[in-house]
Amino acid sequence: MTNYLISPMILLFLLLTCCTALAQVSGPTDYRPQIFDVQRYDASIEFPDPAQRTIIADVTMILKWTAGAPSASFPFHLRGLTIDSVLVNAQRADVVTIGDASSDTMHHRVTVAHAVTADMMDTIRVFYHGTMTNEGGASPWGGVHYNDSVLYALGVGFSNNYVSTTQHWLACYDHPSDKATFFARFTVPFSPWKVASNGIEIFTRPPWPEGKAIFTWSESHPTSTYLLTFAVAPYRTIEMDGVVPHVFYTLSRDSARSARSYSLVPRMTQTFADIYGAYPFDKVGYCNTVKGAMEHQTMISFPVSIAQRNDTINVTAAHELAHQWFGDCVSPLDFRYAWLTESFATYSECAWLEELRGDSVYRKAVQEKANSYMKTISKSEGVFALENFPRIAPSSNYPQTIYQKGAVVVAMMRAIAGDEGFTSAMKRYQSVRKYGTATTLDMKEALRPALGSKTDAFFDEWVTGIGWPQLNIEIGQDGSDTKITIQQVQQNLHPTWPIFTSLPLNVVYTRNGFAGIDTLDVVMYCDSTGLLEFNCTNLLSVNAGARCRSLVELLRTTLVFYESNSGFDNVSSIAGLTLAPNPANDSITLDRLDARASINVRIIDLQGSTLHTQTCAANETHCLISTRSFPNGVYSVIIEDGKTPIRLPLVITRGE
Ligand SMILES: [Zn+2]
Repeated sequence: MTNYLISPMILLFLLLTCCTALAQVSGPTDYRPQIFDVQRYDASIEFPDPAQRTIIADVTMILKWTAGAPSASFPFHLRGLTIDSVLVNAQRADVVTIGDASSDTMHHRVTVAHAVTADMMDTIRVFYHGTMTNEGGASPWGGVHYNDSVLYALGVGFSNNYVSTTQHWLACYDHPSDKATFFARFTVPFSPWKVASNGIEIFTRPPWPEGKAIFTWSESHPTSTYLLTFAVAPYRTIEMDGVVPHVFYTLSRDSARSARSYSLVPRMTQTFADIYGAYPFDKVGYCNTVKGAMEHQTMISFPVSIAQRNDTINVTAAHELAHQWFGDCVSPLDFRYAWLTESFATYSECAWLEELRGDSVYRKAVQEKANSYMKTISKSEGVFALENFPRIAPSSNYPQTIYQKGAVVVAMMRAIAGDEGFTSAMKRYQSVRKYGTATTLDMKEALRPALGSKTDAFFDEWVTGIGWPQLNIEIGQDGSDTKITIQQVQQNLHPTWPIFTSLPLNVVYTRNGFAGIDTLDVVMYCDSTGLLEFNCTNLLSVNAGARCRSLVELLRTTLVFYESNSGFDNVSSIAGLTLAPNPANDSITLDRLDARASINVRIIDLQGSTLHTQTCAANETHCLISTRSFPNGVYSVIIEDGKTPIRLPLVITRGE
């Protein structure tokens, strides 16, 4: 028989394999369950010379074990700084560094010299010092900077492979999945320096150490480490009332202009509380910094150049504030799900414009984002999904796709769900995942009651799928009836793009009713082959009505006549006529199959005023019409050949 005792060598091998597997930390785009849960960071941090970015720190991490193990170790991240010593429950402990600076999971691992059991607590205390750095590269963003008399930290990088950059100043388990409370005592040279940070400021009564000042901050709500920050500067504060206190840190040079730029922030907080649920934290804070903006929990780092604009609408402030719900209160489990933060914050810019200026301005803002994605961003970054997108150039950790395409995708969720269904879904997501983390699945389940049978298709097509619908429209004259055929044709050129059965398409048309001509402004959907057909008197517009704007491209509009049409001979000179592109920006082309006769082209606006007239001469098969002077909007192109005038809808959407 084989031996029933496992040889000591094999046992050692098994133990090492098991513990190596357990020991893997989560990477920026994956989540590996750990047997610890950090409860709280308690930091004493001194910045002896802010302009030099120097730090002397002592950070206690209080952690709870979530499972038992005969031996355990704890990983923490800290980059570019020197570790002086590490204590476990006040006893010196060994620490090893795993990986080098090029690794996306480079971390330090401290051995805990006892068996652990579930719910047992331990404290790990790390002493370190050095000069704080940042993500590096051509234009560093994440990490620590000193510019324009402000020393500050931004919590994520654009080009670094490890994404979260709090490890450039705080020893912590630097992964969004492990949220903890944060308490910090910051010591800085006495006057004029002040420190802004997360949570509530607790006044620290002097006497302070000779020549030094102490600022204490406490964030009692769990926070993902990438949302922790500080800013040290000769700041002044501006305070405003609202549903919670609002405080703004500015240099005195900027305080008058900042007060105007931030003046509507309390109303923004109220607006988002109405849509997403009560503001989840104790204060709203902004601090002016050179680089930004970054949605640090309750202390947003905000670009001073924008704060100086006197722009009270301040959509950037609205974007960062909306992150307090999407990103901060409910954080992504890992950075594959960054769309759950950026798409919703960018959508919120449009919702804020709607609050201030009404629904037509909201739709215009959504349309501009759709245009900028389809015309510019998809060309520069490539075409990819919102979830788990590529990060290498020309993309990045935060590609514009998840902002601009993402905002339109959220607007389409709302169009399908209806305002009430959308608001309850957002509040459901916020309350179910409050102060925790989420994945795409959590958002999908929160929306399911509102999106109903379209839920799975919507997420497959818009969140994990790529591309967008491209439509050809045929307007078929058949006697007095007009048959509209809208067909998705994107797979002709892009076979990997899906057919979008969950595209909410806002169609406006007229129809003969009992009391005259009715105008209908409705949302319709294509079938599983990407086809939508209906009859009307006149098609007025596609994706340009008063209901919604979607991520859709109208490639061409063609006029066709059916054999059964008794007037076929009379109108043959304009049969098979195509208008493209539509939507247009600076010009459109009329293509004619039959160019024997000349035709007159007239473009009118929705009020019926003629804006442009032109003649396409006989034998002119391609007729170019400049639309450069037309504002964005919906128009009709009237084509007359001296017999029956016909009408084609035209949309002008010039990108910003
Ligand atoms: Zn954002």
